[in-house]
Amino acid sequence: MGILDFLFGQKKSTNLDPKDALKREHNKGNGKSFLMTIEDVFTITGRGTVATGRIETGVANTGDSVDIIGTGGKKLTSTITGVEMFRKILNRGEAGDNVGILLSGIEKGEIKSGMVICTPKKINKDRSRHISQSVKNQVWNRDNGKCIQCESNSDLEFDHIIPWSKGGANTYRNIQLLCQKCNREKYDKL
Ligand SMILES: [Zn+2]
Repeated sequence: MGILDFLFGQKKSTNLDPKDALKREHNKGNGKSFLMTIEDVFTITGRGTVATGRIETGVANTGDSVDIIGTGGKKLTSTITGVEMFRKILNRGEAGDNVGILLSGIEKGEIKSGMVICTPKKINKDRSRHISQSVKNQVWNRDNGKCIQCESNSDLEFDHIIPWSKGGANTYRNIQLLCQKCNREKYDKL
């Protein structure tokens, strides 16, 4: 289907603004995380709180977890339990769509116009386990190329003193040389 067919078809059937339709095409599958500024808030008896607005980026799917960010960084978390547009129930809304988003566990009084609903920020998004070669070289020299516990020089591993999973950094001070056996024993004790 061509873009004109798409626009014409959409316009005839749903009164979708051509600009919205273009934007919708443009944003399809662009991988951006979901973001919508709340324009209005309603309560639907028996169903819950609905925030309306235009999806600015990304896709809203029923079942997605979202953060709702207010002024001053106040943050609520919720789950999308429905996406509606033009009195139609959809499973998803895309960038450019004017939608109503049904939010679980949110009271009408908790959210208001101007707040932003978005994909939750991934914790430690930029955090990597990667230990740089220069840190490895420094640690190797400091620990004399031996396991710091048993002084073995075989099967050596660069170990995080404070485990990476507990927030330990990839720095010289937090990395040590352990042989595979001592490293396993350490983790068995943790
Ligand atoms: Zn060892």
